[in-house]
Amino acid sequence: MPQSRLIKPLLDQEYPMISHGKGIYLYDQNGKRYIDGSSGAVTASIGHGVDEIIEAMNEQAKKVAFVYRSQFTSEPAEQLADTLCRLSDGHLPWTFFVNSGTEATETAMKMAIQHWQEQGRGTKTKILSRWMSYHGITVGALSMSGHPLRRMRFVPLLEEYPSISPPYCYRCPHKSSYPSCQLACASELERVIKRIGAQYIAAFIAEPIVGAAGGALTPPDGYYEKIQEICEKHDVLFIMDEVMTGNGRTGTHFGYQHWNVKPDIVTLGKGLSAGYSPIAATLASQKVIDPILSGTKVVMSGHTFSGNPLSAAVSMAVLSYLERHKLVDQVEEKGKRLKQKLKRLQGETSMIGDIRGKGLLIGVELVQNTLTKQPFERHLNVMSRLVEKAQRNGLLIYPAAAGEDGIDGDAVILSPPFIISDDEMDELFNLFSLSIKELEHELKG
Ligand code: PLP
Repeated sequence: MPQSRLIKPLLDQEYPMISHGKGIYLYDQNGKRYIDGSSGAVTASIGHGVDEIIEAMNEQAKKVAFVYRSQFTSEPAEQLADTLCRLSDGHLPWTFFVNSGTEATETAMKMAIQHWQEQGRGTKTKILSRWMSYHGITVGALSMSGHPLRRMRFVPLLEEYPSISPPYCYRCPHKSSYPSCQLACASELERVIKRIGAQYIAAFIAEPIVGAAGGALTPPDGYYEKIQEICEKHDVLFIMDEVMTGNGRTGTHFGYQHWNVKPDIVTLGKGLSAGYSPIAATLASQKVIDPILSGTKVVMSGHTFSGNPLSAAVSMAVLSYLERHKLVDQVEEKGKRLKQKLKRLQGETSMIGDIRGKGLLIGVELVQNTLTKQPFERHLNVMSRLVEKAQRNGLLIYPAAAGEDGIDGDAVILSPPFIISDDEMDELFNLFSLSIKELEHELKG
């Protein structure tokens, strides 16, 4: 019998064996403690081992863990949809539950296409997106993504969806600066729509703040307002992929609430259950669903585990926990504190080019030369080395792509759980600072 092997991200690498987690800390089986400075994959927003969530999970599992969505609805799923509608101030009354962020964006894509089909406008099938974006790993979701490394091997299978430049002010794609740029990166959307023809375009999708594909790229004021205006003018639906930014990560329940916009479709994942059980969602405005409601009445998507009562109850408990402890209200202040510390560190080292993001979604771009913004040479593997060094020092951080085209740069994301205390934040910062300084020393040596 051949020995069975778990396929891990790197097949030939040893990974520490997790033992347990409590609060912002994770412990491996050798007793080593790690600060979860990235909430895993920007997911564990209320920290680990929260008793209330485990109790809610237990209670629901005892009642019923699974029902098929074509046969039953459940109280937890209905309550969760109600809560999400309330958190969107009633703007997103319709919820479709799925199991991962990828499924949520793929459902958003299908919902947008179906919205137009039901009105006899079946040629509107293309989804526009931005270069340097990540919307998921399946063929549909990857077609909408501008993450070169993740696309690379599957390009022949992907739909040829056009993309526009990201709002990357540190490396402005138009070699300009805000506000004199007049938001040229947003204006690109109109040019692409006109070139392709609005009759072929179903929607435009964007992450409010670009996560893995850009290291917390945050648009300047007015960017999304302009995007929405262009979408409305050309009958193109506006999808906000809030898988990473949703559920309070940036200091508001939805990232879009930082701006004066109302996207037609919004996706959630990661923080929706804070990692306690797989669940994600695609939320839609009345306008999106109306033609389906007066047409076939079926949103053509769905998975066996969609909206299972166990995950829905867990997610409901997480959202209640966030509200009861007013955690989202604290995110902005905590993020500011960490950013201030990082700004000081920028003055003490020579490799931090940019610090960006909102709330507790903070990107740090690493460069070889802070004056010219020249990235490190690829073979130096700076981002991976920093992530590894930090982990060795007991701090988990999240790797991100950066640089022109999202290929040649290095960035990391700091996104600790919202429950982090001031002392814990100091500890996180000190370990990050130590790791950066060690790497800088090594690179100079
Ligand atoms: N959308 C965004 C913005 C993400 O950050 C991710 C994951 O990182 C996804 C979609 C895909 O989510 P999942 O990994 O849960 O499929």
